[in-house]
Amino acid sequence: MTDLCRLTLKEATDLAKQDGAQSLLNAFSKRAQALNPKVNAFLRFDPAKIEASVNKAPLCGVPVSIKDNICIDGREVTCASRILAGHVAPYDATVIEKLKAAGATLFGQCNMDEFAFGSSCETSAIGPCKHPWDLARVPGGSSGGSAAAVAADMTLAALGSDTGGSIRQPAALCGVVGLKPTYGRVSRYGLIAFGSSFDQIGPITKTVEDAAILTNILSGHDPKDSTSAPRSVPDFTQALKRDVKGLRIGLPKEYFIEGIDPEVEKSVRQAADLYKKLGATVQTISLPHTEYSVAVYYIVAVAEASSNLGRFDGVEYGLRVPAKELREMYFETRDQGFGQEAKRRILLGTFVLSAGYYEAYYLKGQKVRTLIRQDFEKAFREVDVILSPTSPTPAFKIGEKTADPLAMYLSDIFTIPANHAGIPAMSVPCGFTASGLPIGMQLMARPFEEAALFRAGYAFEQETGIYKKKPTL
Ligand code: GLN
Repeated sequence: MTDLCRLTLKEATDLAKQDGAQSLLNAFSKRAQALNPKVNAFLRFDPAKIEASVNKAPLCGVPVSIKDNICIDGREVTCASRILAGHVAPYDATVIEKLKAAGATLFGQCNMDEFAFGSSCETSAIGPCKHPWDLARVPGGSSGGSAAAVAADMTLAALGSDTGGSIRQPAALCGVVGLKPTYGRVSRYGLIAFGSSFDQIGPITKTVEDAAILTNILSGHDPKDSTSAPRSVPDFTQALKRDVKGLRIGLPKEYFIEGIDPEVEKSVRQAADLYKKLGATVQTISLPHTEYSVAVYYIVAVAEASSNLGRFDGVEYGLRVPAKELREMYFETRDQGFGQEAKRRILLGTFVLSAGYYEAYYLKGQKVRTLIRQDFEKAFREVDVILSPTSPTPAFKIGEKTADPLAMYLSDIFTIPANHAGIPAMSVPCGFTASGLPIGMQLMARPFEEAALFRAGYAFEQETGIYKKKPTL
C-alpha cells in the first residue's frame, strides 16, 4: 500500500477527488501524533476535530497546516509567545477564508520563533522545533514548525510568513519548497504583524507544483488589506512547463562571498550549470548595496515591530498579570509575557524611532532600502531570474547561535534583500551536504512575476527529483 503521507498535495487531492480525504486525514493524524513529541512542529493539533469536508472544492479536505501567527476564527493563536497564551482569534485571516473555500482541512498550528523573531525556532516560548533530518539541529525559522511539518510528512503543505526570510530559510534548511510572494500579492489581513512593510504570507510545500497550486488559492486583491495589490492573478500552474530555454539567469557576485559554506556554494553553482544545460543563459550580475541589507533590516523592521507589539499590554489580548495599578500591570505583563528576543527588538525599535535618532537611523535606513530596491530594478533589466543560495549554511546545531544574536541575524543575509525590495523569491531544494543535510537555492524575480520562479523551479525539480528523498524518522 502506498504511504499516504508521502504523497504530494497534487497527488493527494487527485486521490481525494475519487476516495474522499478521510483515509488521508487518518494517516496524517496518526503520523503527526507519533512524530510531534520528537519534532515539536505543531503547537496545537487536535485529531478529534478533523473532519473531511466532503465537497468538490479544489483541495477536497486534504490537511494544510498554519503558522501560529495567522488567525483562524475560534482557535487559539499565540505567535509562540506567553503574552498571547489563551488568546482566541475572533475572525479568519483572508488566507484562511480562501483555504476553507478551497476545501482544505486546517490541520496543525505550527511552532515558530516568538512573534516571528528568529531564524531557528529556538525563541518559541513553547520550546524549540527540531530538524526532521537531524533532531539535534534547528529547522530554521521563523516558520520552522511549518517547514519541519512538511519535511517530516506530518502535513501535506503549510503556510508560513516571511519578513526577512522566514519562509525561505527554514524551507532551505528542511529540504522543502518555500515561496515569499511579491509584497501585496497575498492579503496580510489576519496575520499578526511583525514588520508591516515587509510581511508576506506564503506556502511551504513538498514540490514547486504544490506551491503554484496554493499560490493560486492564496493570491488576490483584498479590500481588507490596504497594501494588497489590485492585480489580476494568473494561473500559476501554467508556468509548470519544464522549459527554461532562453531564460536569463543572474548570479549576484555579492551572494557568493567568504564565509559561505563551501558545500552550499558548490551545490548552487551546480544548479546554475544544470540550468545552462537545459538552455538557460547564466551571467554574473551585481547587487552593490547587498552588504547593507541586514543592518538596515534591523533598523526598519524592528521599528515596525516595536510599534506593532505596542498593542500587547494585558488589556485586550492574552496574558494579564494582575497588579495594584495600571502602569504596573502593563509593566509586569510585558515583562513576563515577552521573551528575550522580543524585548531586544522592542528596545531597538523604540530607540531608532525616538526623537533625535529617527533621522540618523530610521530615515537613513529607509533611504538605503530604496537603493537596495533600485539594485534589483537595474539587475532585472539584464536577467529574468536571480539565483543564489537561500542560506549561507545548512541547518546548524540547537544552541549553536543563541548566545550571539548577530551570528543568528546573518542567517538571513541572502533572503532579507527581497523583503526590502518587495520582490517574489522562492527556495527550492538543490542538493545535500556530505553529511546528508538539505541545501536550498533561492530564485528571485521581478514584482508580480512569481510565474518565472515556478517555471525555473519546476524545471530544476523535475530534472533532479531531489524532492523525493525523505528523512528517516
Ligand atoms: N530571521 C529574521 C528575523 O529574525 C526574519 C524573520 C522573519 O522573516 N519573520 O527577523
